[in-house]
Amino acid sequence: MAFLELAALAKTYPDGTRAVKGIDFAAAQGEFVVLLGPSGCGKTTTLRMVAGLELPSAGTIRLAGADVTALPPSARDVGFVFQFYALYPHLTVAENIAFPLACARMPKHARDVAVANIARRLGLTGLLQKKPRELSGGDQQRVALGRAMVRRPAIWLMDEPLGTLDADRRLAMCEFLREQQLAARVTTLYVTHDQEEAMRLADRIVVMKDGMIEQVGTPLEVYDEPATLFVAHFVGSPGMNFLEGERVGAGAVTLGVRPESVRVAAEEGPAGDGGTPALKGEVVLDEYSGIARCLHVRTDAGTLVARVAADAPTRLGARVRLEFDPARLRRFDRASGRRLS
Ligand code: ATP
Repeated sequence: MAFLELAALAKTYPDGTRAVKGIDFAAAQGEFVVLLGPSGCGKTTTLRMVAGLELPSAGTIRLAGADVTALPPSARDVGFVFQFYALYPHLTVAENIAFPLACARMPKHARDVAVANIARRLGLTGLLQKKPRELSGGDQQRVALGRAMVRRPAIWLMDEPLGTLDADRRLAMCEFLREQQLAARVTTLYVTHDQEEAMRLADRIVVMKDGMIEQVGTPLEVYDEPATLFVAHFVGSPGMNFLEGERVGAGAVTLGVRPESVRVAAEEGPAGDGGTPALKGEVVLDEYSGIARCLHVRTDAGTLVARVAADAPTRLGARVRLEFDPARLRRFDRASGRRLS
């Protein structure tokens, strides 16, 4: 049975902005679900409605078997972390982290053990007696995470909680979050616009656009079997390449292929497998990223990106032939943007 269930959930703000346009979605107990989409697509509004900080204009929210649609945040047993954290300035780091446990009347000794454990995992042990004003922004954000995760509510709600951290810390915190969540099995709804973070963390990703859900799926499904042109382009770095394909019946078809599924061959070399579609072009950009290189190849059908090994011999200015494995091509209806096969 679903643990969190959103049914026909909608939010229109008083100024008429339709932030969320009637979405349906269910999460199982213990699932880590990421709401992913570009700025303004309605992720935060959805999360705030689950938290009880915004009242829906229509639809229902069920949490742990109860209809919580009209309940205030305090009656929902949710724990949240937002990008703009607010620590209690007059309390030490240890007291900030212990605060939710003190509210729940946990005995002091058990509280101290829980705080010491989480502080060790977050690298905050040496800072426990400091006040928030003595910490950097990144350290304060980690304290906020610790304070939220020291308790085990029905659901954790997180809105870009790693937003203020540098790249190194972000990776470490992703690991921490996932480990904590797997150990506690607390159902988690996490908002981000960063698709790499979404892939790294999620059991399932909900991709949103313009207040609607485009696709719900595992990271692999969303990457490999995108439901729409939007998902195919938004997920992946860089996103899928698109080629205008043949017309089928009345509708036009767009073909999609991931950069790693584009094979780069010498322009006049031996042809690939019989029947493999190919295009000729010139390498106009060569981006090195350590483990691979992205070659941008200008062809008559537009510029396509091919991901090749970091030590591949092809260089800027080379004339090449691009080949596509037909099994890796995805076909979309151009008018609706939905995938055909
Ligand atoms: P971001 O990642 O930038 O926060 P988001 O996907 O979380 O974006 P929301 O913050 O949910 O999107 O906003 C969805 C839409 O609702 C946007 O057009 C936004 O401008 C609008 N919006 C958000 N809050 C309000 C409000 N209080 N009043 C009016 N419009 C709002």
